[in-house]
Amino acid sequence: MTVRVRFAPSPTGYVHIGSLRTALYNFMFAKKSGGKYILRIEDTDQTRLVEGAVEGMLTAMDWAGLHHDEGPFLEAGTVVQKGEFGPYVQSERLHIYRQYAETLLETGHAYPCFCSKERLDDLRETQKIEGKITRYDGLCRSIPLEEARRRIENGESHVIRLKLPADLDITFEDIVRGRVTVNTNDMDDQVLMKADGFPTYHMAVVIDDHNMGITHIIRGEEWLPSTPKHIFLYDAFGWKAPEHVHLPNILNPDKKKLSKRQGDVAVEDFQRKGYLPEALVNYIALLGWSPEGNEEKMSMAEMVEKFSLERVSKSGAVFDVQKLNWMNSLYIKEMPLETLVDYCMPYFIEKGYIDPGCEHGRAFAADIVRISKDSMNYLAQCTDLVPLFKAKTVEPEDEETLEMLKQPHVVEMLGVFKGLVEAVDAVDPVFAKQVFKDVQAATGIKGKALFMPIRAAISGQLHGPEMVDLMTILGKKRLISRIEDAIARLS
Ligand code: GLU
Repeated sequence: MTVRVRFAPSPTGYVHIGSLRTALYNFMFAKKSGGKYILRIEDTDQTRLVEGAVEGMLTAMDWAGLHHDEGPFLEAGTVVQKGEFGPYVQSERLHIYRQYAETLLETGHAYPCFCSKERLDDLRETQKIEGKITRYDGLCRSIPLEEARRRIENGESHVIRLKLPADLDITFEDIVRGRVTVNTNDMDDQVLMKADGFPTYHMAVVIDDHNMGITHIIRGEEWLPSTPKHIFLYDAFGWKAPEHVHLPNILNPDKKKLSKRQGDVAVEDFQRKGYLPEALVNYIALLGWSPEGNEEKMSMAEMVEKFSLERVSKSGAVFDVQKLNWMNSLYIKEMPLETLVDYCMPYFIEKGYIDPGCEHGRAFAADIVRISKDSMNYLAQCTDLVPLFKAKTVEPEDEETLEMLKQPHVVEMLGVFKGLVEAVDAVDPVFAKQVFKDVQAATGIKGKALFMPIRAAISGQLHGPEMVDLMTILGKKRLISRIEDAIARLS
C-alpha cells in the first residue's frame, strides 16, 4: 500500500500555526513512508471565502518548505492543479458530491429536510431551555422520498441530512488515541448538502478522501467529534475508512487553546518578524511529537528520518515563544554572515535606514548584523542597534550613566581621547585598541575609570556592543562630535 496523506485547509486568509503543524506531520509521514503528500482546498463554506487566501496559503507552505506532490500550485502568480485525482479544490467538485448525495438518498442513509431556519432556531431555543442537547428532532425523516422529490422539483428549499439509526455504536481506532466509540443516540442528523447545493465539510471530506485514495487522515483534535459521522458515511458507501490520527491541541501558556488574542498565531506573522522557516518548522514539529532520543535541533531530513505517528502525544502542547526564540537564535547563529545580511537587508530598507542598492548602506547593515547576530531572536531585531549609531547626539540614558560622566577626571580624559581620534585618518580596529593604552599613558587613568566614561560619552549607555565595534562603526566624525557634546554638557 502506498501511503497517501493530505493537508486540507480552508482558505481563511492566513495560515494558523496549528495548520502548519498538521501540514508538517502529514508531510513528514509521507516522506518517511515513501508516500504522497496531497494538498486539497476545502472551500465549501462560501461565506468564509477570502480573496487571495489560496495564493497566500500556497506561498506560506512553499516558504516553510512543505512541498506537496499533488494539488494546486502557484506558478507565475496563477493557481494551477497537478495530479491524477483532481480537481483538488472542493468548489470544483460539486457535481461529484451531488451524485453521492443521490446515492445516499437511494440507499436510505440520508433524507431531504425542509425545515425552515426559523423552525430550527425555535427548536434549538426550546431544547436549550429544557436543558437538552441541541440537535435536529428528525421531523423530516418520515417524509417518503417520492414526496420529498416532488417538493424539491417544485423548488422548495431543502438540505440533505444524514439518517442515523438509533442506538448504534460507531467505533474506530485512532493511532494516537486508541479505540474511540460513540453511540448514535449522542449524535445529530448532520447536514450533508446545504440549501445552496454545496456539500458540508463532513460530506465533502469523506468523498474526497476516498476518491483521492487517502490512506491516513492526520488532522487536529478538534475534528475528533466529527469522525464518527465520517465513519458512518464510509460504511454507508461500503468503503474502507482510512486510518485516523488526531493531533493534540496547541495551547497557550495558560493551557487554553492557542488563540490570536494572546499573540501571533499566523505563520505569516512569524515570517514577517524574521523567524527562519527551518527554525519555525523544527520548533513546530516538537509540539506534540518527540523523537526517541529527545533531540531538539533537527533538520527536516533528520526529522523525517525519526518521525513516527506512534510518538505523537495525546496531551496538548504549549506554544512557548521563548523556546521558539531560542530555536530561531540557534539557526541565526549558524548562518554565514553574508547570507544573514541578505536576509536582514529588507528590514534596514523598510525602516528607511539604508537605500536599496547603496553599497555603503550594505556595509553599514553588515556591521550592525555582525555585532547583533549573537543576541538576535528573530531577524526584525537586526536593526535594534541602528539608532545607537545613527543618532546625531546621545544623552546619558539614566542617572548611573550621568554619574559616571560627572566624575572629576572625565572632562580632561575625554579631551585627550578626542585629540588622539582627531590625529588619525580613520578609526580602525587597531587604533580602537591602541587609543586606550595611549590615553592611559597620558593620564594615568585605567580600567573602569577609563573605559566606562568614554563608553557613556559616545553611546549614552554603560553597556552595549564591544568598544572596538562601537568606535569603528561610529567612525571618526561621529565619534568626535559625540565626545565634544559630552564635554560641552559637562563643562
Ligand atoms: N478543512 C478542514 C480544516 O480547515 C480540514 C479538516 C480535515 O483535515 O479533515 O482544518
